[in-house]
Amino acid sequence: MRLLFILLLFPSIAFADCVSSLLESGYRVERLAPFKDGSCGISDPVRMYATPTTNFSSPITLSCPFAKRVGDWAFDIGAKHITHIGGYNCRKVRGGFMMSQHSYGNAIDVKKIDGVPISKQWRHAYKRACKYFTTVRTPDHDANHQHHLHIDNGWGMGCMFDIVR
Ligand SMILES: [Zn+2]
Repeated sequence: MRLLFILLLFPSIAFADCVSSLLESGYRVERLAPFKDGSCGISDPVRMYATPTTNFSSPITLSCPFAKRVGDWAFDIGAKHITHIGGYNCRKVRGGFMMSQHSYGNAIDVKKIDGVPISKQWRHAYKRACKYFTTVRTPDHDANHQHHLHIDNGWGMGCMFDIVR
C-alpha cells in the first residue's frame, strides 16, 4: 500500500524500474527525458539500440514497456537483426483521424527481419506478434502495409478479427 502511494506520487520511480530492468536484462537502451508534443509524447521514453538477442538498423525511440515487448517478440521469432522504419512519430493514422500509436512510442514499423523483406516473409513474425501486441498490420491488410509490418499496443483487439491469407 505504501509502495503504491510512493509510485503514485513519484511515477519517475516506476519509470526508473522499467529502464533498470531492461538494462539488467541486457538491453542496450538509453533513458530519455519524458516529453510532450501537443497530443503526442512519451512519459517513459527510451532510445533502444539492441535487445539481448537482436540489433536494430538504427536506434529507435519507444516507450519503455513497449520496448520490452518488442524485445520479447524479437527473441520469440529468433530475429538477430531488425530493419525498422520508425518508432515514435507524432502523426495521425494514415487516412484516418485518430492519432497513431506511433505518437506515444507505442508502435514500430518493421521492414526486414534478418535481411528478408517483410513483403516476402511475414507470416511467422505476424503469428508470434499476435501474442505480444494488440494490433498487427501486414501486407495482407492494406496497401499502406505492403512493405512493412506495423505493430502496436493501442486499442486493437489482437488478431482476433484478422483475415490473413
Ligand atoms: Zn506503423
